[in-house]
Amino acid sequence: MLEVSGITVRYGVREVLSDVSLRVGKGEMVTVIGANGAGKTTCLRAISGLLKPARGTITFQGGRIDGRKPHELLSMGIAHVPEGRLLFPEMTVMEHLELGAVRAPADAPPYAERRERCFELFPRVKERQQQRAGTLSGGEQQMVAIARGLMSAPKLLMLDEPSLGLAPVVVDTLADIIVDLHKRGLGILLVEQRVELALRLADRGYVLETGRVVLEDSASSLVENPGVKQAFLGI
Ligand code: ATP
Repeated sequence: MLEVSGITVRYGVREVLSDVSLRVGKGEMVTVIGANGAGKTTCLRAISGLLKPARGTITFQGGRIDGRKPHELLSMGIAHVPEGRLLFPEMTVMEHLELGAVRAPADAPPYAERRERCFELFPRVKERQQQRAGTLSGGEQQMVAIARGLMSAPKLLMLDEPSLGLAPVVVDTLADIIVDLHKRGLGILLVEQRVELALRLADRGYVLETGRVVLEDSASSLVENPGVKQAFLGI
């Protein structure tokens, strides 16, 4: 479904991603792990069109997408839930869902149906629909950020650090929701500091080290990899 081939991304003269390749199959959950500053967020930003690779190609469902605008990619079925949620504090939960729906593909289910699906998945979002985003708890904000992404009826959902700053019990709820979305056939690209969690949820993973993919394997093999254990799992 998604194929990133040999992309290089620079901020000014500084190369932050070098020759990165990765793929996400239809309905697959893939994780990108790596230390702080390894380039994980940059990778997602390049895929969603926020950054233009200097080299390499990105294809989605067989068509070239590098160089396309973020709103075009959203209409094609790529939703990006950014690190830090990036909600509008003064806007209500419902307004965020409406905003998320604006660029849905032409063949997406009707708006009301998508909204009901989100409410089913996130009962808390339904309860809080008239509340301003700035007054929500961290966990609720993350749920709204994901719900906003889902309102565009994506085929690929990219999640950047969804568990950041959340209490363990909220992380568990979120993990169940991500598993549920995966079971329903949604392709997911997950960036997550909690490497153990990411490898428990995902089918496959890539390890990024200073902008390069140094390892790729099934999640079950990565968990057993001595280098991964030492660097990320504290074993
Ligand atoms: P973290 O886990 O800390 O979020 P990351 O793996 O997601 O890290 P990126 O955010 O992709 O890493 O950053 C990769 C490198 O690019 C870092 O060294 C960062 O300082 C640098 N960088 C990120 N954004 C910019 C920018 N707008 N301008 C210049 N350098 C940047």
